[in-house]
Amino acid sequence: MKEENCIFCKIASGEIPSYTLYEDNLFKVFLDLSPTSFGHALLIPKEHYANLFELDDDIASKALILAKKVATAMKASLQCDGFNLLQNNGEIAGQTMFHFHIHLIPRYKDDNTKIIFDHKSLKEEDAKTILDTIKKCL
Ligand code: AMP
Ligand code: ZN
Repeated sequence: MKEENCIFCKIASGEIPSYTLYEDNLFKVFLDLSPTSFGHALLIPKEHYANLFELDDDIASKALILAKKVATAMKASLQCDGFNLLQNNGEIAGQTMFHFHIHLIPRYKDDNTKIIFDHKSLKEEDAKTILDTIKKCL
């Protein structure tokens, strides 16, 4: 299914041009237009899913296999020093394009890219509550 005003649907169909790195009947991988590092790319399913929660299970598993394939090719060809796979869901989590996508981010020494966690210590009572709460829904 295609969503009327979705830029990534239009990239998927070729209506909007992209620097396409890989394409098959289900996926497209193209360069991010505002890259955080040399080679930063986005992997999208051609079908429209707004986010991870809407994603079809079969597409989800194939997406990770493809992400691994492209990341492996990037590592070998760009000789990056590390790699981030990043996937944002919801505005609060940094999602700005509401068509599921995985960021493929090759990392280099001194690339000045920051993916920041504000680490706290896990409290025992929180750990128990978190496990109890989530396990009920699994
Ligand atoms: P997110 O913040 O996780 O939703 O990521 C959206 C990404 O899409 C950002 O890194 C943008 O730079 C990128 N982006 C937006 N429009 C385009 C476009 N037309 N072609 C390539 N990348 C895009
Ligand atoms: Zn879309």
